[in-house]
Amino acid sequence: MAQILLGKEVTASLNEEIKEKVNKLKEHHVTPKLGIIRIGERQDDIAYERNAVKRCETLSVAYEKFLLPEDATEDIVIDTIQKVNQAEDIHGVLIFRPLPHHLDEEKILNTLAVEKDVDGITNLSMAGIFAGKEMGYAPCTASACIRILDHYGITCTGKKAVVVGRSLVVGKPVAMMLLKKNATVTICHTKTQNLEKEVQAADIVIAAAGSAGFIKKEHLRPGQVVIDVGINVDEEGNLCGDVAFDEAEPIVEAITPVPRGVGGVTTSILVEHVVNAALLKMEA
Ligand code: NAP
Repeated sequence: MAQILLGKEVTASLNEEIKEKVNKLKEHHVTPKLGIIRIGERQDDIAYERNAVKRCETLSVAYEKFLLPEDATEDIVIDTIQKVNQAEDIHGVLIFRPLPHHLDEEKILNTLAVEKDVDGITNLSMAGIFAGKEMGYAPCTASACIRILDHYGITCTGKKAVVVGRSLVVGKPVAMMLLKKNATVTICHTKTQNLEKEVQAADIVIAAAGSAGFIKKEHLRPGQVVIDVGINVDEEGNLCGDVAFDEAEPIVEAITPVPRGVGGVTTSILVEHVVNAALLKMEA
């Protein structure tokens, strides 16, 4: 029976830290504020936005939504980003991705001021992660994986970590963050040969492929810690991860469930990044 690494336990201690920082800001009459830019009406964006807003409200962090239609022009989107860049009271910005196809994502995302890039979407933020430097913010989901490991006292030094997925949102940044914590890191993807063998060799598995339950018992062995980032819907319409939980749980040492794992931690990390950005601005 594996230890179940529950997101809510991590979130509880993270939220306490955030509250302390918010109180410190309050003493200086600063209210941290998140700007949310959403283009279109994608249901998963709206669900994430609802959770982010709820978490902001719980933690006394302000927010302002900038909602644009699906067919918004590049000029309108860039104007909106420049507006939040200049807004003195907005400390961090969430922009939902992917952007609609008619927009130049690379150009638009890199318009965001790096000091407000609390979800690591700009090239400058990403450069900081790859250089192992404390500049900008890592994507919230990648940070959430690391925070879960830290919270449960799972050390990375000298361990073999395997990340399945190489997106800029999760796979690549989390791999760099594990490397910074002295793990020996392998990144797997759709062209990886013998994925079973690669994953089985890992002490720490980060599953971030977006394929329902595709990591099965033959990929796993006793002693492994599994962080399941995947958010998928199974054949019965239920939310599930990338790891077949019922197969993995009797084998591995520890595992995050889906739901109740990484997702909730990601939202708190977003708020933490906004609060940290407000603190940095105040102390500058
Ligand atoms: P993505 O951009 O689609 O990237 C998926 C990656 O996984 C790609 O690199 C792909 O390889 C690889 N992959 C897909 N199927 C594979 C397979 N069968 N074997 C090996 N590699 C495979 O997805 P993403 O944005 O990184 O998101 C990944 C998952 O995390 C999704 O389920 C998403 O919903 C979830 N997610 C969760 C949170 C959270 O807060 N919990 C936040 C963001 C995303 P190639 O590069 O070769 O195509």
